[in-house]
Amino acid sequence: MGRNYKIGIIKGDGIGPEIIDEAIKVLDALSPTMGFNLEYEEMLMGGAAIDETGVPLPAETIQGVKTCDAVLFGAIGGPKWDNLERHLRPESGLLNLRKEMGTFANLRPAIVYDELVNASTLKPEVVRGVDIMVVRELTGGIYFGQPRELLKDRAYNTMVYTREEVVRIAKVAFEIAMKRGKRICSVDKANVLEVSQFWRETVVEVSKDYPEVELTHMYVDNAAMQLIRNPKQFDVILTGNIFGDILSDAASMLSGSIGLLPSASTGAGVGLYEPIHGSAPDIAGQGIANPLATISSASMMLRYALGEDKAADKIDKAIRKSLAQGYRTGDLGAYDAKEICSCSEIGDIIAKYVSK
Ligand code: NAD
Repeated sequence: MGRNYKIGIIKGDGIGPEIIDEAIKVLDALSPTMGFNLEYEEMLMGGAAIDETGVPLPAETIQGVKTCDAVLFGAIGGPKWDNLERHLRPESGLLNLRKEMGTFANLRPAIVYDELVNASTLKPEVVRGVDIMVVRELTGGIYFGQPRELLKDRAYNTMVYTREEVVRIAKVAFEIAMKRGKRICSVDKANVLEVSQFWRETVVEVSKDYPEVELTHMYVDNAAMQLIRNPKQFDVILTGNIFGDILSDAASMLSGSIGLLPSASTGAGVGLYEPIHGSAPDIAGQGIANPLATISSASMMLRYALGEDKAADKIDKAIRKSLAQGYRTGDLGAYDAKEICSCSEIGDIIAKYVSK
C-alpha cells in the first residue's frame, strides 16, 4: 500500500477554479509515479461560499480543513461582493480561515527563473539565480498587538512579541534553511525598537540548536535596500509580521510576474498552500490565467506538508522545463515565448512532464 493523503481543495472565485483544476491535473499525473495516493475534499470559502451559504467561511469548511493533511487554495474575491460589510466579504473568510487553522508562519519564495530574467524590472545580472525564501511571522506583532485605538486627535498600535511566538517562527525558518542553503538573515529594527532587540536575542538563542546554519542580522531599512541592490546575497529571510508583509511583496517582484509565485501558511496543524496573486476577475473565465503559481503551491504542499520532497522536485523541474521550452501564458508572452498557451495547455504540458 502506498502513502495516502487527504487534500482539502478550496477553489474560490474568479480564476481560482481554473488554476486549481490545473494543479489537480498535475498532482494526479504525478502521484502514481511516486507511490502515493491523494484524496480530495472540496470546500467553500469566499464569494462562492457567500452565494451558496450566505457567509464567507461556512462552519463545514472550518471543520473540514482540520481533517485534511493540507489545503490547496486558489483565490477569492471580486467586484460582485465588494459592497458587502467588511465582516461579510470574501477576504474576511480567508483571514478567519488562517486564524482558525493557527497558521503563524507565512513562507514566500522569490525565485527568478533563468528563462524569465528579462521579465524583471531589475537588470538581468542582478536577478539571475535569485532564490530567496521569506519566512514571515503571521499572527503576532503590530497587526494584532493590544492596546490599539483610533481616537480623534491621535491613534496607536502596539508591537509586541512573546518568547513563544519568536521561538516557533525561528524554528520554522531554521528547519527550512537546513533544507536549503543553510543561511538565515533575521531582519529587525533592533537599533530603535525594544521588541526587535528581544526578537534578535531570541533568534540567537534558537540558533544554538542549529550550529550548521549561518545566522546574520540586518535592519529592515537596509534589508529593503539590499533586496533591490543585491538580492542574491539572501537564502532565508526571517522576519516579523509588518516587516515581512512589506519585504515579501518587494521580494516577489524580483521575478517580475505575479502569476508565478506560490506561498504557504503553516503552523502547528494543517497548512494552507496558495498562489500569491488574487482572483484576477479581469481575466476570469477566459482560460488565459497562468496556473504556474498554483502548481508551484502544490509543489510546496508536497514538500512542506507531506514530506514528499522528490515529488516536489519533479514539479519544480517540470515548471523550469516548460519555461525553457518557451511555453508561456499571455502574461509572460513578451518574454522569449515560443508558444502562447492557455491555462489548461500549460497544465497539460506540466502533467505530461511529471508523469514520466
Ligand atoms: P490580482 O492579483 O487578482 O490581479 C492583479 C493583476 O494581475 C490583474 O491584472 C490580473 O489579471 C493579473 N493576474 C493575477 N493573477 C494572474 C495569473 N495567475 N495569471 C495571469 N494574470 C494574473 O489582484 P487585484 O486585481 O488587486 O484583486 C482582485 C481580487 O482578488 C480582489 O477581490 C482582491 O480582494 C482579491 N485578492 C485575493 C487574494 C487571495 O485570495 N489570496 C489576494 C489578493 C487579492
